[in-house]
Amino acid sequence: MKILIDPGHGRNTPGKCSPDGRFREYQYTREIAAAVVARLQALGHDAEVLVPEFEDIPLSERVRRVNAWCRRLGKDHVVLVSVHVDAAGSDGQWHTATGWSCYTSPGQTAGDRLADCLYRAAEKHLQGHKIRTDYSDGDADKEAEFYILNRTKCPAALVECGFMYNRESLQFLVSPDGRKANVSVIVDGILEFIS
Ligand SMILES: [Zn+2]
Repeated sequence: MKILIDPGHGRNTPGKCSPDGRFREYQYTREIAAAVVARLQALGHDAEVLVPEFEDIPLSERVRRVNAWCRRLGKDHVVLVSVHVDAAGSDGQWHTATGWSCYTSPGQTAGDRLADCLYRAAEKHLQGHKIRTDYSDGDADKEAEFYILNRTKCPAALVECGFMYNRESLQFLVSPDGRKANVSVIVDGILEFIS
């Protein structure tokens, strides 16, 4: 089983930072992705960061990398988690929206089972924090036409660790507890999915 962790965006992606500019999404997601991969490797799993580059790698190239593994190993032997931090609009102002959430592509796919595992891990590791859900289709995850979820052939989910436009959420994200929790959510979610 090949586990691929995609850190969202790059150093050169416009926006994608907190209103005060101190928090950069690409940097945080790379730290989380690296920690997730290190933990999974230490447990003996074949995990790697999909985008080792610091520059923004186009979504088409990310998808190409994922689907190349799917072709080589079979799509049921690859799993993808894309790591992001939510914003709440694009006005560069502080907002009150908060919480952890997970997206899959529309419709019921293996990605929905992966998302179920990630939600269970989030409920365990993010107690006292808001977990954003959408039960309109019978499961907790939100669904969206995200390119990386729609075009990849393997089970895939996209995690929003919290909100960088929210002061409290941001404070938690960068704290040692917040980092540890967000890493554990992704690691435990994947481990349950592949077990
Ligand atoms: Zn993002």
